[in-house]
Amino acid sequence: MTHHAPRFTFDNSYARELDGFYVPWEGDKVPEPRILLLNAELAQELNLDVDALDSDEGAAILSGAAAPEGAETLAQAYAGHQFGGFSPQLGDGRAILLGEVLDRQGRRRDLHLKGSGRTPFSRGGDGKAVLGPVLREFVIGEAMQALGVPTTRALAAVTTGETIWRETPKPGAVLARVAASHLRVGTFQFFAARGERDRVRQLADYAIARHDPELAGRDDRYLAFLRAVIARQAALIAQWMHVGFVHGVMNTDNMTISGETIDYGPCAFIDSFDAKAVFSSIDHGGRYAYGNQPVIAQWNLARLAETLVPLLHDNQDAAIRLATEELENFPEIYSAHWLAGARAKIGLLPREDDDDLGFVNALYAAMAGQNVDFTLFFRRLPQAAEGDETPLTDLFDDATAIREWLPHWRERLAQEGRDPDERKAAMEAVNPVYIPRNHKVEEALTAAETDADMGPITRLLEVLRAPYEEREGLEEYAGPPPADFGPYKTFCGT
Ligand code: AMP
Ligand code: MG
Repeated sequence: MTHHAPRFTFDNSYARELDGFYVPWEGDKVPEPRILLLNAELAQELNLDVDALDSDEGAAILSGAAAPEGAETLAQAYAGHQFGGFSPQLGDGRAILLGEVLDRQGRRRDLHLKGSGRTPFSRGGDGKAVLGPVLREFVIGEAMQALGVPTTRALAAVTTGETIWRETPKPGAVLARVAASHLRVGTFQFFAARGERDRVRQLADYAIARHDPELAGRDDRYLAFLRAVIARQAALIAQWMHVGFVHGVMNTDNMTISGETIDYGPCAFIDSFDAKAVFSSIDHGGRYAYGNQPVIAQWNLARLAETLVPLLHDNQDAAIRLATEELENFPEIYSAHWLAGARAKIGLLPREDDDDLGFVNALYAAMAGQNVDFTLFFRRLPQAAEGDETPLTDLFDDATAIREWLPHWRERLAQEGRDPDERKAAMEAVNPVYIPRNHKVEEALTAAETDADMGPITRLLEVLRAPYEEREGLEEYAGPPPADFGPYKTFCGT
């Protein structure tokens, strides 16, 4: 085998332009780095040579043990509200930024390693990550990507050869993560909380250059930037809701400026539709429950807005008024995205003058409290257009309300007069057959962790790569969990 070293064409704007926003830092040496999963498609997108990466040298780089030429590894500073309480100093406590590369489309992408060892931000933690959660982040991120939801992605999962102590000994691992950036609401909070107004401005200008370059140079750029982040998050959360995703730990340090989903910890997809669904073992109050996510997003965005107030206007009252106006638009922007998505899910044509909120809400009200499998419901709905209601109504404990709603829906379809096959195809293109079902994720992680069997997770990744395309022989991935599964609990901490 001809061997050439993995090469990265780094262009490290964060290191170059934001001195004082990070600590230069290196990953730990580890005994035996080994690549378990390598995302070849993403590697190609990043102009990386897959064969060169899939090597001992590649494993050393992706574990943080060796830095490739051109890398300027660093730990980023950030703060954050965790479950509503402010922590002024969080930061990369178990991660480093390796650098930035331009992908094939010229987009700037961060290469980041999670689990690479202690940093000055580690506080009491060991700086390490363990295999199960690393694989979990890999799988859920790839599922989100294939579902069309903006997300950070895994480039690789690498085992380190170390034993890491959690409640029990676990195999150590590192997740190599790719993101549009790692700028978080909490990054702004870190400098705002220290009263470093110039640094907040510098950070905002950097974020604008990176994510909203069309705003650069405008006098009202900071307000427009706030508006842009609000718009991205409103769109993102609406997408989460439509695939049944529960992030689980929507702290402000886990909310990006880019609008990508980040930090898959205790997240999960709902099986049955339930606004109160909570999976995280530490979310006792249900702050981050499925149905609470839009409200929490707005709350987090208010924390971002606070950091920007000094940049918005010389007069503080005027600045606060401007920020408040933007924030108050969130529910409307979110609702518009949500409604457009919901209408598509039920096969209605897109419309500008949308007055269907009541009609659509009646559907969700009919599903509430019925233990209806959310994913199956929308996949079976097309059949009910032709009058075949039983497969759908069988999903309900009590189908009275849905039986009332369906005739109204058929009436709407009749008004639109869309070709039924075309409508069915359009519905199937937005309603997944395959989501990362909790029981299938657990099964795959258990096989990998306890038997070093990567078969189930590899198959699961294959299935999730084409979530809208029903394929023969994959029935076990398309259904709800067996009756003896659950209640499902997820845990923090990679
Ligand atoms: P997360 O819950 O993943 O969003 O992390 C919240 C904060 O805790 C971040 O500052 C992390 O860097 C830090 N953290 C989490 N786990 C560890 C660990 N094992 N060692 C050091 N810091 C950690
Ligand atoms: Mg985090």
